[in-house]
Amino acid sequence: MNIHEFQAKQVLGRFGVPVPKGQAATTPDAAAAAFTALGQPKAVVKAQIHAGGRGKAGGVKLVSSAQEARDFAARLLGKPLVTHQTGPQGRIVNRIYVEEASQIARELYLGLVVDRKAASVSLIASSEGGMEIEEVAANTPEKVLTEPIDPLIGLAGFQARKIAFALELKDKQIGQFANLAAALYKAFLETDASLIEINPLVVTADGRVICLDAKMSFDDNGLFRHPEIRELRDPTEEDPAEIEASKYDLNYVHLDGNIGCMVNGAGLAMATMDIVKLSGAEPANFLDVGGGANAEKVAAAFRILLADDRVKAVLINIFGGIMRCDVLAEGVVEAARQVKLNIPLVVRMEGTNVDRGKQILKDSGIKVITGNDMADAARRVVDAIGQGASR
Ligand code: GDP
Ligand code: MN
Repeated sequence: MNIHEFQAKQVLGRFGVPVPKGQAATTPDAAAAAFTALGQPKAVVKAQIHAGGRGKAGGVKLVSSAQEARDFAARLLGKPLVTHQTGPQGRIVNRIYVEEASQIARELYLGLVVDRKAASVSLIASSEGGMEIEEVAANTPEKVLTEPIDPLIGLAGFQARKIAFALELKDKQIGQFANLAAALYKAFLETDASLIEINPLVVTADGRVICLDAKMSFDDNGLFRHPEIRELRDPTEEDPAEIEASKYDLNYVHLDGNIGCMVNGAGLAMATMDIVKLSGAEPANFLDVGGGANAEKVAAAFRILLADDRVKAVLINIFGGIMRCDVLAEGVVEAARQVKLNIPLVVRMEGTNVDRGKQILKDSGIKVITGNDMADAARRVVDAIGQGASR
């Protein structure tokens, strides 16, 4: 789960991470009031969407009056903001953040990630703040510093100082940085975060080290321990299909292709996506309906697939182990009755009650293309949309 910048700053602030003061607003008047309440000569007004690159896209502005804050908020609110991270359709700005302006001397990068290679959380830092860290890593990998954190010891003082020196921080800034990094790590652990990104971390003109931007993601499986973080969820920022899928406890991830896939078991779902690609098309989703799915769940999954108008054909690939093929067939038939099925449907199933399942599909009168095995089913579904790879 992702949260907004202003929420991340609130969370981090509670852990003692230095962040500028600010106030979120949903109307131009509230933005003006927030400027006045800050009582500073200058403020920054920032679009709050779950995407970066707002600065370059015109979603961040330095303002020097309440009127200017109101005008800029009016320009952003209710309209899509297109950044290089949003895709061409952009994201609707429902909220802005008005924050006291900082005078920037240097822009740095600081991140915490779950580092699979190191089997730990790693601190990532760079002197190249304000730029895409992926780009810095690709072009000048020597400018990206990685410090794995031993889970038993935590972030050691010498590690924080090593990074501070490498970032060419001076005097008091070194201690400030060490405290900031320690507080950030504590926040990461205690909230079950999966990512914290501070880009930029800045040194202000008066020599303070503070977080000018903040991005936080959390491990969904840890959210039950943090109701106060779960409350920060913003459904308007999430894929409606994924929200619908989560209601039925389906593991669904929206992708860019046009073959809708319904599979049971994560491994089989991954293999199905691979074989669709191998056959010359792209999957529209990852979908694992789970081991013990009932007809209602299968029907919900099927509806979600068909609601995506980019889906040109559906491939159902089920191995009936715990799940029975007749239950699957009932779900598919039920869903096909609810929504008009007007695209090709290819079914490959194998396992418990497979004959009964096939009979149910046959008796239903739904047009079903049967795949003999996985590869055959994949070829058939790709052929059905006229995208078969030359063989
Ligand atoms: P992003 O573009 O979505 O990552 O948004 P950021 O919060 O990182 O802001 C983009 C850029 O706006 C930063 O890299 C800064 O250069 C600039 N910016 C943000 N806040 C301030 C501020 O308080 N003062 C000044 N001078 N610039 C700011
Ligand atoms: Mn940023």
